[in-house]
Amino acid sequence: PPSALLGPAEIRDLAGRLGVRPTKTLGQNFVHDGGTVRKIVRTAGVREGERVVEVGPGLGSLTLGLLEAGADVVAVEIDPVLARQLPDTVAGRGDGLSERLTVVLQDALRVEELPGEPPTALVANLPYNVAVPVLLTFLERFASLERVLVMVQAEVADRIAAPPGSRTYGIPSVKAAWYAEAHRAGTVGRSVFWPVPNVDSALVALERREPPTTRATREQVFAVVDAAFAQRRKTLRAALSRHAGSSAAAERALVRAGIDPQARGETVDVHGFARIAEALLDADV
Ligand code: SAM
Repeated sequence: PPSALLGPAEIRDLAGRLGVRPTKTLGQNFVHDGGTVRKIVRTAGVREGERVVEVGPGLGSLTLGLLEAGADVVAVEIDPVLARQLPDTVAGRGDGLSERLTVVLQDALRVEELPGEPPTALVANLPYNVAVPVLLTFLERFASLERVLVMVQAEVADRIAAPPGSRTYGIPSVKAAWYAEAHRAGTVGRSVFWPVPNVDSALVALERREPPTTRATREQVFAVVDAAFAQRRKTLRAALSRHAGSSAAAERALVRAGIDPQARGETVDVHGFARIAEALLDADV
């Protein structure tokens, strides 16, 4: 059957008819390459009948790929012009596709509940300026999500998937690791977008796993992570001294957590941060 996917001519035509002027603030770069869309859908491992949530469907490039693969899609879009047009675009590209689409007009960071069946996968070409917060917010809010496949700025993909000790390891790496195992799943050149962005993109795949077992709450662990990386070049003892109340308290907690007080945050994995947060709880007693 002919593909429902949007090519350069369709993207230009749709944008022209809607009077869409892509904005940088909303990270609006639309994919006009069917090969890229198929690669995302394939890498995401989308199953027929699976409930998928997409953030930022835009003109519908990826949405159509997901629907064509047989997914039930709930798409969250902040731009009212794009959100209102999407069902019509989809209806015009293939029979029955729009019956499996639900559009939510909202800021993805503010979505507390999604309509219909809970989604098992998040698949999206994320708006770049809010990519990490959207990713973490969705993993936190929607426990039904087992898998994530997102396209983000290549540099951000590196940070999300970085292992401890690597140059790009930081806050996004540790926080993503709280929820899931992440790895890079290929690069995407800038020429597949309209307008052409000035950065390359990459795919990141995440698979949910159990968070570390700890008596500290997620918020407490994340607060330690934020403090540890606020001053990257400092030792953990120095970086955590304010958070712990004093440099001596920070040192005691680190030792109790089995971490060298002279080490830097970039060498500690998510389990180590969980142990530090737990040791800090005991310090209060
Ligand atoms: N998925 C489309 C594609 O691949 O061609 C568009 C991707 S574009 C990089 C990002 C989309 O996210 C845009 O449609 C933009 O309007 C939308 N967006 C930006 N910020 C958003 C937010 N906070 N919540 C929901 N959608 C957002």
